[in-house]
Amino acid sequence: MYCNYCGKSIQDDAHVCAYCGTRVGTVLARKRLVRPRLDRKIAGVCAGFAEYFDIDVTVVRVVWLITAFMTGVGFIGYIVAWVVMPDEPYILPTPAPAGQQQATNP
Ligand SMILES: [Zn+2]
Repeated sequence: MYCNYCGKSIQDDAHVCAYCGTRVGTVLARKRLVRPRLDRKIAGVCAGFAEYFDIDVTVVRVVWLITAFMTGVGFIGYIVAWVVMPDEPYILPTPAPAGQQQATNP
């Protein structure tokens, strides 16, 4: 792809132009903490974190369970994450309300 500021050829997966430093691409749209609709055991919180940090979901679940049973914070944290984290958008494109689109992509 090409930098739309200086016009030089840059890597397709680059976030910042190596020549002029201009931010390129849609980084925010790709990397979001959401709860996947597939591969969820309870609410998909662990799967969401695993996808976000690019680690094995089993590792996340084990770490969360240990934390939960050792400290008790894990249960509260899970519920908080459940409430705060949005659901992953459906794979099939569905018409989203204009207001919601604005709120999720500032
Ligand atoms: Zn540039």
